[in-house]
Amino acid sequence: MALLEVRDLQTYFYTIRGIVKAVDKVSFDLEKGEVLGLAGESGCGKSTIAWSLLGLVPPPGRIVGGSIKIDGNDITKMGEPEIRRKIRWKKISMIFQGAMNALTPVYTIGYQIAEPLIYHMGLSKKEAYERAAELLASVGLSKEFLNRYPHQLSGGQKQRVVIAMALVLEPDIVIADEPTTALDVVVQYQVINLLKRINREKKIAMIVISHDLSLIAQMADKVAIMYAGRIVEYGPSEKVFNDPQHPYTQLLLKAIPRLRGPKEKLAYIPGQPPDLRNPPTGCRFHPRCPFAFDRCYKEDPELVKLDKNHYASCFLLEEKGVGGL
Ligand code: SF4
Repeated sequence: MALLEVRDLQTYFYTIRGIVKAVDKVSFDLEKGEVLGLAGESGCGKSTIAWSLLGLVPPPGRIVGGSIKIDGNDITKMGEPEIRRKIRWKKISMIFQGAMNALTPVYTIGYQIAEPLIYHMGLSKKEAYERAAELLASVGLSKEFLNRYPHQLSGGQKQRVVIAMALVLEPDIVIADEPTTALDVVVQYQVINLLKRINREKKIAMIVISHDLSLIAQMADKVAIMYAGRIVEYGPSEKVFNDPQHPYTQLLLKAIPRLRGPKEKLAYIPGQPPDLRNPPTGCRFHPRCPFAFDRCYKEDPELVKLDKNHYASCFLLEEKGVGGL
């Protein structure tokens, strides 16, 4: 059994203007110590998956179908008190997008890291501050930072603090949502290396969410490409990046400029991602797909297995594939 097993997850938002099917029948697995990259354009459902995994879908959203099993326990069957007591931050934690700007300005870094240790783990104040100093050391910050306030830190230092806070209760899984957004290139590189080191040394499984495929390629063992609330391709990073099968993945990769090799005209994906209150019939990608044919307008392709652990959903691939996820 995988550490995390997500099956047919559906998370919808019930707005006054209609039902937004933000995540619609998404399935994937995560093993201990593995890194999964979730990639796709803005609004494709990546962050909604993360909120679903933590039991933190904001209203008017809710999980309406499927299962999320962590260590075999289905959190979609648990109430909020049980998730708070057993799962959130202890089994699975998250580095929220832009979280470095959400550090409380009036408390020291030491207080903000030590507080959950006192509250959740029953440590004394002295023990909690010692542990906070260890956590800061693990992200490359000295214990002097315990007494500093967020405004005294650079963007990169704040992001390190946020990463340390995600590790406070020693979770098995950390979700990093756009972990390098708003950081300059040098600091981005440092943060990526830090996350890789934590994954390697602590054997913490990670889900890295990004629209930046180069970040995913640097970090992930396997990747799920999302489009309009669905996973359209899923497999080992090496396979998906070197031999993409779904037309959407192929176009996404062709849109990345290359430093080496012959100069090629960059591709772009015409049109806009669909309105998820009223997604296109048939294959959701058909209005933008250069290969769309009659069947694509009417029928919805399922993920099929193309090769060991490599899946994609496109009618053009049906003959190559057998079975689903
Ligand atoms: Fe394109 Fe049709 Fe394949 Fe969808 S099923 S990706 S529209 S060819």
